[in-house]
Amino acid sequence: MEASLFFSETYETARARFLEAATAAGGRLASHENPLARGPKGLPLHLDTAWFGPDDAETVLLNTCGTHGTEGFAGSAAQLAWMMTCGPRDLPPRTAALLVHAVNPFGFAWGLRGTENNVDLNRNFLDHNAPHPDNPLYDELHKFLCPKRLDEMSMSKMLGAGARFVEKHGQWALEDAISRGQYTHPDGYHYGGLEPEWSNVVLRRIVETELATARRIAFIDWHSGPAGDGELIYLCFSNPEGPDFARAAHWWGENALDPATVNAMWGSKRPSRRGIMFWGLEEQLAAHARLTGAVIEFRSARHKPSPAKTIRASLLERWLRFEGGLDAPEAKGFLEEIRDDYAPRRKSWHDNVIRNALACYRETISGMSEWTQERARAAD
Ligand SMILES: [Zn+2]
Repeated sequence: MEASLFFSETYETARARFLEAATAAGGRLASHENPLARGPKGLPLHLDTAWFGPDDAETVLLNTCGTHGTEGFAGSAAQLAWMMTCGPRDLPPRTAALLVHAVNPFGFAWGLRGTENNVDLNRNFLDHNAPHPDNPLYDELHKFLCPKRLDEMSMSKMLGAGARFVEKHGQWALEDAISRGQYTHPDGYHYGGLEPEWSNVVLRRIVETELATARRIAFIDWHSGPAGDGELIYLCFSNPEGPDFARAAHWWGENALDPATVNAMWGSKRPSRRGIMFWGLEEQLAAHARLTGAVIEFRSARHKPSPAKTIRASLLERWLRFEGGLDAPEAKGFLEEIRDDYAPRRKSWHDNVIRNALACYRETISGMSEWTQERARAAD
């Protein structure tokens, strides 16, 4: 089947195809409706799961997509391709797969990255009873990163302030302050929220019930965004000195996980992070299971020649949410621009995403098989 055919035009279609393919492949389905939000035209929003393999499997692939809403188009296509090219039937004995479709269905349906509360879900998985991490440099940036209008004058004012900030703190500090996560400005960038989001609560509940007897979790969280054409960036958040990082490197290659490779593929030194889902789930599972895996990015955006272009998709999303509204006359065009960054319609991108995703599934599942056998030998 041609790669492009796995890609859906809307969240609604992607969801219907996920459910259909999972049913055809013998998956056990569950759906969770988000009671707090709706999609375009009042569309109900669901996080769906499909389980393949024995219920009591101790080695399980946990594969999520749409954590960052609209980035789900790539992950959803990858999941569909895996289910339709007999992935579930090829699972080794005593292993299972739990596919999670649209962790953040609101963002997926509207073509945005954040949740219904403008929360970056990948900054939301931390202990909300403890004081939230601070990000003092973000406070300095917020006021000029949130223009009321996106005309040339506002943009050049913003870029001027950005340049002054870089002079004072350096380029990396700018990127880090914007994207590491902040817990002070609900209408700002990469806001982590002050309580667990609906998606966070539901995903944790799924992990608690579905993975209760699992001992070994292989984790793939599909994302997209950095400039490129469907190549994979492996963001492994395990302790670099620990066994899970070593295992992931064994599956996907030392080089793929090497920080130098990752930074080069990312386009700059990666920012620091707080509250990411990977750590949240790793911690939740720690009492009975090890988690080995990564956030895996499909490179997707076009190369950006200027700082204004680099930040544009984030600016547009914020403007649509807080200034102009999703029904503004500009909305359609702006959403198209965002879409082109995270889920372009280029054939080469479709081809590369599907080819690279299927290769990654194969490597992961072969790694899981080895991991199960290792444990069986150790138990003999
Ligand atoms: Zn992402």
